[in-house]
Amino acid sequence: MSFTHLGLSDKVLAAVAATGYTTPTPIQEQAIPHVLARRDVLGIAQTGTGKTAAFVLPMLTILEKGRARARMPRTLILEPTRELAAQVKEQFDKYGVGQKLNVALLIGGVSFGDQDTKLTRGVDVLIATPGRLLDHTERGGLLLTGVELLVIDEADRMLDMGFIPDIERICKMIPFTRQTLFFTATMPPEIRRITETFLHNPEKIEVSRPATTAVGVAQFQVSVGREPHDKRDMLRRLLRDAKDLQNAIIFCNRKREVALLYKSLQKHGFSVGALHGDMDQSARTAALDQFRKGEIPLLVASDVAARGLDIPSTSHVFNFDVPHHADDYVHRIGRTGRAGRAGTAISLVTSLDQKSMVAIEKLIGQSIPQVEGLEAGPIDESATPASTETERPRQSRGRHGSREGSRGASRESPRDGAQEARKPRREREPRRAAGGRNANPQPAAPAAEFTPPSAPPPSRTPSIGRAAAPKAPQEPASEPADHSHLPAFLLRPVRVRV
Ligand code: AMP
Repeated sequence: MSFTHLGLSDKVLAAVAATGYTTPTPIQEQAIPHVLARRDVLGIAQTGTGKTAAFVLPMLTILEKGRARARMPRTLILEPTRELAAQVKEQFDKYGVGQKLNVALLIGGVSFGDQDTKLTRGVDVLIATPGRLLDHTERGGLLLTGVELLVIDEADRMLDMGFIPDIERICKMIPFTRQTLFFTATMPPEIRRITETFLHNPEKIEVSRPATTAVGVAQFQVSVGREPHDKRDMLRRLLRDAKDLQNAIIFCNRKREVALLYKSLQKHGFSVGALHGDMDQSARTAALDQFRKGEIPLLVASDVAARGLDIPSTSHVFNFDVPHHADDYVHRIGRTGRAGRAGTAISLVTSLDQKSMVAIEKLIGQSIPQVEGLEAGPIDESATPASTETERPRQSRGRHGSREGSRGASRESPRDGAQEARKPRREREPRRAAGGRNANPQPAAPAAEFTPPSAPPPSRTPSIGRAAAPKAPQEPASEPADHSHLPAFLLRPVRVRV
């Protein structure tokens, strides 16, 4: 099957051809003709299935006719996070070349004034997070009565984030006669209720991610001590010794831990970025862009980054903290092993994490093998002179560290008190549904080969497979190191504000 049989316009087909895609994915093949026939669609599909283009391509075709009116967008796409919203906009930019469509983003962290100016000019496609959208409607700067087509993307993620009441309010502001496209990875009862209320005789399309994406992920756990420096020592050791490490996302449970670990890795000479919900939008976008382009091989992230983001080829995922919710584990390790590539996921497990590990293993239906021979012990880091002493937990003096430090450890959730309260009402970090819910468990991977570091300590000069970069310029190395074998991107100093 090729794209030409789906009913897309010539302009859109040309843009698709320019990207090099020749065959529609199953969700595209099944959804696009129904969207073009103006049917409601209920798509049960995860990120990575090509679901974004499944609505972007037919929308571009539909929007070729007609014009936008001031403050009355023609179509609306709701996304749970700013990053996802920005990614959808990128797809409109990519496939919409040659069309003069106004595509606007309404997301937190960007000035209201600029967004208002765009709305006044008339918008064909409005891509928004629910909170910021409602802020605009409440200020009277936005009317949803002209919306002909509504997309609700990542609905189960919206549920997790506490956005469902907002979604219901928004749906009621849009004419009943609209077309609705609804995408979710799972169908918990609350989502089923919403689909029954807001979709009209939808075409139901269900696709699963290709089994190869998950089957290719080799999963391991490593026991570590409970002291914060135990984990950091072990992580550096793993990073230096991991086989075939090209890039990695390192997940932490808390924003504060993201900031601390980022600084620690930087101090130890790793080329690293950070991503969590309290960073301002430009810093988040910059970090993500650098990671996506391969300019920084390591990204320390909170769960904001775990779902939905399109990062095509991550070779490794590290759970610096074992997630408290088993479904978060599934989503985190889903960042690697995508599109049939091999991937490795390694979790650092303390004695306090045993309960969470049991829940994870139950969810994925497999036990995760231990990597033996990696017990915390003295590590020769003479090539990286920063002592572990300097990275013990402390009040971070960074912008976020200082705010979070006074509150103590904070899971990235709206319960984070004062700091949350300072945000615009609607853009507060979302509330996780109590007890979580089961995500689509990906089939667990067979344990692939993993070579634990051999008894001698790591080599003094890290190699490419060991993602370490040279010292930061301000920290002179204890001895000159030969970095000639390292690719340039690992040598580039990176500054990301956290
Ligand atoms: P999504 O599920 O929308 O996040 O898409 C996942 C990835 O698949 C993105 O990198 C898309 O650019 C890519 N993609 C979308 N459609 C196709 C296609 N027909 N063939 C190959 N890759 C695609």
